[in-house]
Amino acid sequence: MFQKLEKQLIAGFDLEKNPFLYRRLVMTTALLVTTLFVFIAFIFINYSMGKYLLSVLDTLVVSATSVALYQLVSKKNLEFAASFVTSILFVFIVFFTYTNKNENFGIIWTLTYPLFVIPILGSRNGLLLLLVFFMIILPMAYLGIGEWDHGLWNRTAFLRYFIVVICVFFTAYFYESSSNSAYDSLIESQKKEQDYLNMLESLSVTDQLTKLNNRRYFDDQFEIEHEKILRYSSKLSLIMVDIDHFKQVNDDYGHQTGDTVLQEFSSLLLSQTRSTDLLSRWGGEEFMLLLPEIDVTSASHIAEKLRQAIEQHRFSHHKKLTASFGVAEVEPNIDSKREAILNVDSALYQAKQEGRNRVVIYHN
Ligand code: GH3
Ligand code: MG
Ligand code: MG
Repeated sequence: MFQKLEKQLIAGFDLEKNPFLYRRLVMTTALLVTTLFVFIAFIFINYSMGKYLLSVLDTLVVSATSVALYQLVSKKNLEFAASFVTSILFVFIVFFTYTNKNENFGIIWTLTYPLFVIPILGSRNGLLLLLVFFMIILPMAYLGIGEWDHGLWNRTAFLRYFIVVICVFFTAYFYESSSNSAYDSLIESQKKEQDYLNMLESLSVTDQLTKLNNRRYFDDQFEIEHEKILRYSSKLSLIMVDIDHFKQVNDDYGHQTGDTVLQEFSSLLLSQTRSTDLLSRWGGEEFMLLLPEIDVTSASHIAEKLRQAIEQHRFSHHKKLTASFGVAEVEPNIDSKREAILNVDSALYQAKQEGRNRVVIYHN
């Protein structure tokens, strides 16, 4: 039954974002329920003792507490419920101390106030309310010296009470603020960890020279897109690109320049493709484009557009470059992934054989 109530209570609150919210919720609810039962009891006690005015007041408190509970559980208005319960207890404890003085050690109730006010209202607001609270209670207790408890409430008793008030006050405050800062540093280290994980994740799918996606990324995406064509019978095509006579660039200008040319070539490919076309470095000076929703004819047009763009581009080593292209469509069957790679590779091989700087479509 308690689990059901707890579920109903926490529904609608984002407890993951703020772990202190749960404590606030539970403490506020527990205090509201306690207040409700205590004041229901007071209605009967005061009524039976003939204190009708007080039992009317108790009835008002019971009604208001019910409203606050309703606001909390059904309307999720925690701020209202928290302010209400801390205020009602403020009034009640001050009133109790004023009327009972320290009869039967009744002033001990004042020591409980800091313990729930700070967790419920937070360090700042809680502290403010406590200052007001003790600015009322302490002068009352001071003025009671020699009078309360038929004179037993003396200076020493007041001093002891005062010291305990200060201890409880600061213990509650430091407990709250230290758990807040512990939580903040936990969040910060979690964020750092997450950033680090994100960086690792991005490194694991990025080619370090060209900053394009690497082959691992291609494999993952190919798997996903292949699943889609099996399920929805949609189109999927591949374009494989290989730079023509790239060895010559390395031989003529050095490996370093070769690397720069590869970077430039990658940027050129990237600038000529849409974000939905998945471009990756397949290896060396070979690149692969995965084209979801594109049939082989449209893919060959894309390849031709890329071929022309490369042919017209002036690379920074002052030389023109060309590239050869293989194009193939991925068939919607289970084994087509491996097949499509073989097909696009053989189309590319044919393009090289036929003299390079051209697009060849694989036909079954
Ligand atoms: P083809 O037209 O037949 O493709 O001729 P090719 O010279 O491009 O021949 P091939 O594809 O076999 O050679 C690729 C060359 O690319 C070989 C290798 O030195 C060079 N290469 C591969 N990866 C890198 C790299 O990361 N940096 C540099 N600078 N060169 C690379
Ligand atoms: Mg090659
Ligand atoms: Mg080559």
